[in-house]
Amino acid sequence: MAYRVYIKNDYRPEIVRFRPESRRWRIAFRTMLISFLLLSTVTGFIFFESGEPESNNTQAAVTPFTVTITPDAMQEAATREQPALQFMENITTTFPGAITRSPREEVMETAPDRPGWTDVKIKRGDNMAQVFNRHGLSPRDLHEILNSHELAPALKHLRPGQVISLRTKGGDLHALKFDLDLTRTLLATKQAGVFTSEVVIAELETRLEQAQGVINDSLYLAGQDAGLSDKLIMQLIDIYGWDIDYRLDIRKGDSFRVIYEEIFKNREKVATGNILAAEFSNRGRSIRSVRFARADGQVDYFTDNGANMRKAFIRNPLDFGRISSHFNLKRKHPVLNRIRAHKGVDYAAATGTPIKATGDGKVQFIGNKGGYGKTIIVKHGEKYSTLYAHMSRFRKGMKRGKPVKQGQVIGYVGKSGLATGPHLHYEFRMNGVHRNPVTVSLPQADSISVAETDEFRIHSSYLLALLDAPDAELLAQYDPKTSL
Ligand SMILES: [Zn+2]
Repeated sequence: MAYRVYIKNDYRPEIVRFRPESRRWRIAFRTMLISFLLLSTVTGFIFFESGEPESNNTQAAVTPFTVTITPDAMQEAATREQPALQFMENITTTFPGAITRSPREEVMETAPDRPGWTDVKIKRGDNMAQVFNRHGLSPRDLHEILNSHELAPALKHLRPGQVISLRTKGGDLHALKFDLDLTRTLLATKQAGVFTSEVVIAELETRLEQAQGVINDSLYLAGQDAGLSDKLIMQLIDIYGWDIDYRLDIRKGDSFRVIYEEIFKNREKVATGNILAAEFSNRGRSIRSVRFARADGQVDYFTDNGANMRKAFIRNPLDFGRISSHFNLKRKHPVLNRIRAHKGVDYAAATGTPIKATGDGKVQFIGNKGGYGKTIIVKHGEKYSTLYAHMSRFRKGMKRGKPVKQGQVIGYVGKSGLATGPHLHYEFRMNGVHRNPVTVSLPQADSISVAETDEFRIHSSYLLALLDAPDAELLAQYDPKTSL
């Protein structure tokens, strides 16, 4: 059993006991998996006598928890009466600028656990007219509600599983509400015989969680064991993917720790946020990283001394595709059939495969370029440029001078110009000289600037302290608005 410390909307800490989600099912599944592995290993030995003994040690030494505290401390925290304002003051003095919100008097109650409210779950093929009919409600009321607000017609396009809440008095409808999206609820109420509607915004609460794991089989399995969602595991893989080759570098015993956000609405977890800080220990080397939003809105992960975790370029402009022709200064051209330097790399891929800009930059050239066919050249600062040729088409909206982001789709694979089949011809130029895009050493993306240093230092020291020792007081200081 573990305990979570939550800071509620009135900023009073609350301690909740919880059982890590679906732990029992995972254990059951793992038991099945282990039995299967054991069985197949044993059978392998008997019949083939060549089975390599497989490791069945899939049990990771992992405890997903937020904060583990002693019963004494819990008692102390639970009985502590901390007036909201004093609590705010404590926070703002320990961590200036941390909290900018003011305590709220009352939170809009969207969970219909109040008396008088009935929940109606929309079934397949259901519509509001049928719902009203089933509950003996007046179609006139429905018509009135549909016209009471510009967003009310959303009631006509309900999906199965959506919930409508109704409040009736003496068989008459008095109020209706339903969620437009994660934060917005449409509330229609009858006042003086007429329905009026308003959109109520629910405040989402962001809470921090800590998780850690040791890798036995794969980072993915260890992430699952630590209670991380697929989205968070992918994020962790992305953060360290610039430094670690997951196929080659991972060793048994490598470990990670993360601090991440979970989004709650009315005490219910509704979404997973982002990893805010992480540490990855790979073959005895630890890399710590912190998420930070720069002044221009660009969000990146930085090492604790402010270096960008990201490279300025991704290696490969295609997600899917294989190298069909390497960088070769003495290649015989397949179409021209004579020696002509191949100053780039060809990636064979199906026509229409998206092509991504490998770095942030600006479109320097877009159009037809002789044998290159439909081509885009992106300029990345003063030193670098990349070229993408033989496209079938450009992405809509691409034009000269347009800024592009790393990973942004700029066009699609084709065989325009001199090409025998659909492929991308990709060039990488440094100071005007062609370099092999596959082997060139890629520069880091911009590090923390001098102007950002102070803010980054406050931000990162707070998150890294949490990473090292998550504690209730530090968790309470977290404000999603300042950290994004
Ligand atoms: Zn080529």
